[in-house]
Amino acid sequence: ELIAADNPVIPYIEGDGIGKEITPFVKKIIDAAVEKSYGNKRKIEWIEVLAGEKAFNEIGTWLPDETIEAFRVNKIGIKGPLTTPVGEGIRSLNVALRQELDLYVCLRPVRWFKGVVTPLLHPEKVSVTIFRENTEDIYAGIEWAAGTAEAKKFLSFLKNEMGVNKIRFPESSSFGVKPVSREGTERLVRASIEYAIKNRLPSVTLVHKGNIMKFTEGGFKKWGYDLAEREFPDQTFTEHRFNQIKLEKGLNKAVEMYNEAVSTGKVFIKDVIADAFLQNTLLKPEEYSVIATLNLNGDYISDQLAAMVGGIGISPGANINYLTGHAIFEATHGTAPDIVGKNVANPCSMLLSGVMMLEHLGWSESGKLITSSLEKLFENGYGTPDLARFMENGKPLSTSEFSNKVIENL
Ligand code: ATP
Ligand code: MG
Repeated sequence: ELIAADNPVIPYIEGDGIGKEITPFVKKIIDAAVEKSYGNKRKIEWIEVLAGEKAFNEIGTWLPDETIEAFRVNKIGIKGPLTTPVGEGIRSLNVALRQELDLYVCLRPVRWFKGVVTPLLHPEKVSVTIFRENTEDIYAGIEWAAGTAEAKKFLSFLKNEMGVNKIRFPESSSFGVKPVSREGTERLVRASIEYAIKNRLPSVTLVHKGNIMKFTEGGFKKWGYDLAEREFPDQTFTEHRFNQIKLEKGLNKAVEMYNEAVSTGKVFIKDVIADAFLQNTLLKPEEYSVIATLNLNGDYISDQLAAMVGGIGISPGANINYLTGHAIFEATHGTAPDIVGKNVANPCSMLLSGVMMLEHLGWSESGKLITSSLEKLFENGYGTPDLARFMENGKPLSTSEFSNKVIENL
């Protein structure tokens, strides 16, 4: 956590599509909450930086160097959703920004707001924070298309130099590379354990497919456990250790050690195979607290957990480098082209990311004001149409009406 200056400069990207409609209100609500909690002692100095369509239209590039530089210099920023140009040699602006600043954690807290309709019987049992690795795995973007010289060369490399004979890939195969490193795993898992310790949370679960991908996903699990036992021996107890004790000294001894660890407030580090995890989250969500996982698993898991609390349009997120302190808080949804210009977009994903930003600044008072205001509104059936139309006695409001109501209820 940063002890922020009283007037921090915070660069923001307005965003494309509904970004134009939600970002001004997000800033306005944050400013109102800061003023309410700190009077004129603290105030954010917003500076707009360009990215996406707006950048392309005004200066001809999708992700200007000045934008990256502004985030680099000021450390903290916030962004609306961005359109990714098709066929411009950029895979995704979001991915590019994360890579430029080496934002290796994608942080997604998932909680339920009373009043929000969900597919679960007991959504109140869901309270999970996901640490998704953000720089490695299949997102490295190393892929060769079927039929290209590169793909053929790779196939022949596999056969002739790596001795991979047992598989019969046709010549028409595409290939992707999945790099997962010990260093990459360790910094992600370390951040998740430190978060659990700091917030006195009961467990960190490593979610992986190590049963199938033994050295990439299996490596993640092994390196995760190794790190916990090496760097946090006094603050954690691992399932790996539990199983060792069980083998050496029997189940009773293992259970005794576990109970002692729990009663002294140690964080339990466990692991689960990703498919079982997705099932378990529906059946017994209360078993999970902090999740640490690889990039692609994290993508699926973030959306599933958000959907479970009805929060696909209100789930916040941030991309963080805990070593340098760089963090970009963001709307987790896309540009929603189907509703642009209708004044119905839900500002809450970006707004709750703003709450995360306020907490990161150490301005939790202002964050709490916004969260309580939203709790009050949802409980009383107020929301933008995407939420309110499912609520009992739902009262759908436009983006501007809803935002102003958030301010009134601070
Ligand atoms: P993009 O290509 O930018 O990801 P998309 O077509 O995939 O755009 P999303 O933004 O991912 O669209 O949204 C998927 C669906 O959810 C759309 O129907 C959209 O209208 C809706 N949606 C997304 N964000 C919001 C929001 N903040 N408020 C209301 N509806 C939203
Ligand atoms: Mg989308």
